[in-house]
Amino acid sequence: MIESADLPWLIASSKKLLGSDHKHHALLVTGPPAIGKYLLGLDLARQMLCERPGERPPCGSCQSCHLISSSVHPDLHLIMPEVLTEDCHAAFLNHAQRYFDPGQSSQKRKRSRLISVESARQLSEALLETSRLGGRKVALILAADAMNRNAANAMLKVLEEPAGETHFILVTSFPYRLPSTIHSRCIRVDCPAPKVAEVLAWLGTRHEIEEKDLSTLLLSGLGPITINELLTNRSVAAISTLVSYCLGEIYDTPDSLTLTRLCEEVGADRALRILQNLTLETVRESVRQGAAPAREGFFGNLGFCLRAFRKFGSARETVDSAVDEQLALEDICAWACAQRT
Ligand SMILES: [Zn+2]
Repeated sequence: MIESADLPWLIASSKKLLGSDHKHHALLVTGPPAIGKYLLGLDLARQMLCERPGERPPCGSCQSCHLISSSVHPDLHLIMPEVLTEDCHAAFLNHAQRYFDPGQSSQKRKRSRLISVESARQLSEALLETSRLGGRKVALILAADAMNRNAANAMLKVLEEPAGETHFILVTSFPYRLPSTIHSRCIRVDCPAPKVAEVLAWLGTRHEIEEKDLSTLLLSGLGPITINELLTNRSVAAISTLVSYCLGEIYDTPDSLTLTRLCEEVGADRALRILQNLTLETVRESVRQGAAPAREGFFGNLGFCLRAFRKFGSARETVDSAVDEQLALEDICAWACAQRT
C-alpha cells in the first residue's frame, strides 16, 4: 500500500501542510489528479487529531492515531463520492462508509460520481454534535468538487460557523468546479504537478517497462498513482493503445468505429478523460512553444483540441447519465472523427 512518504513530489507540500498550525478552520488542498492528495489530507487529519499535537509527524501511538490507522476514528468524518470506492486506498473505506446511503449501495447500479445532498446534510448534523473523544473533529472531503450546489449549500452553515473545534479539509483536482461560496471560505494550498522525470523515475523503479511506453501512458493524464495501480494489475494495454491511436501512431485515417471500440475497452468515463487530457496537453504545449506541437493524429491539431476540450467534458456528463452509454460514446467518437476526416 502506498503511503504519502513514498511519493517524492509530495515532500515539499507535505512539509508545508504538516508544518503549519492551521489557525484557519478550512483548508482546500488542490493539485493534479492521482498524485497523492488524498493521502496528504489523511496525514493532515491524523496530525490534527493526534493527542500529542506538538508532535510532527503525528505520534502514531496515541489512541487517536491508532483509531485512524484502523479506519474507525469517530471524530474523523470522511465523505467522498461512492465511485472512489472502486480504487481508493483501504484507509479511507471504513471511514467513508457511514456517509454512504446503505439502501443504494446494495443495489446493482453505477456508483455515484456525486456527493449527495443527503451525505452533506448528514455530515453537517454530525459536526454539530460534540466530539466523541473530547478533542477536535475533522471533516475530510475527498473529491470535494463532486458536491453539487445543493450538497454545498447543505454544508455551508457548518462551514461558516463550525461548532466546537471543527476543521475542514477539502481535497480536489478541480477547484474551479466548487461553488464560490465554499471556495471563498477556505485557505487554498496547491500541490504542484510532479515533474515528468520524477514520475518516470518513480514508476521505473516499481515496474519493468520501457521509458517510451511509460511516457505514452503519462500522456493519458491519469496521474502516477492510478498508472502505478494499472501497471500492478497489468491493465494498461488498452490505455496505451488508445493514446497511441489518438496520437496517430497506429492508423492512417481515424475512424469512429475503431475509436469507439478502443474507448469501450478502456471504459467510457476514463477514455473520455484521456481524450480530454490529450487536447489539454496540446493546448499547453502550444502555449509553451508558441506553436502547435509536432504531433500527428487528432491531437496534433490545435483547432481541433480547442473545440474538443469542452465537447469531451460535456460528453463525460452525457455518457454518465445516458441510458445507452454505448450510443452516447459512439456519438462523441463520430463527432471527433468527422472533425478530422
Ligand atoms: Zn498520536
